[in-house]
Amino acid sequence: MRCSEAADQLQLYLDGRLSVERTRALEAHLARCASCRIELELLEEVVRHLESLQMVAEPADLSLRIMERVARTPQQQPSSILAQLRPSPGELLAAALLATIASLGSLLTQPALLRLLPLEGGPLMGLLASVTHLLQSMDATTLTLVCWVMGTLVGICITLLVVGEELRSRWLRAVWERLPVLH
Ligand SMILES: [Zn+2]
Repeated sequence: MRCSEAADQLQLYLDGRLSVERTRALEAHLARCASCRIELELLEEVVRHLESLQMVAEPADLSLRIMERVARTPQQQPSSILAQLRPSPGELLAAALLATIASLGSLLTQPALLRLLPLEGGPLMGLLASVTHLLQSMDATTLTLVCWVMGTLVGICITLLVVGEELRSRWLRAVWERLPVLH
């Protein structure tokens, strides 16, 4: 008898469900195979442990209560997934704002357009000017990369805004759990 064959029969052996012939063959294998003896001891340990656990009596009215609970649970509407995907007015507004900011951001890198805007002076203009200067000082490859990263971020934000509350919180939780820091 091979070890794999013996391992398959150990549970039946413990349960007393092996034929006399098979019991003899298994015992003969166990007598000369230490690893299968260890396997058997572990299995016996598990069985003892399970038997020592108190059986919990189920309440007499358990099935009745389950049926009541099921009856009270509101039926899932087939349209609920679509409803979940439909953005609320606030989410649409935020998505539109983000898109506007993204478009303005790319427009404002054009110095000719910038000069036309009534934004002379003020801290906002100073910030815009330095951002514009930074963007202009980059070479084409870096600029493309920056645009790509910003576009991706905006895309992610818009997607998150549009998918609805439940999917968004699931996404955020998934990202949070994968962060290597903070927890
Ligand atoms: Zn063996």
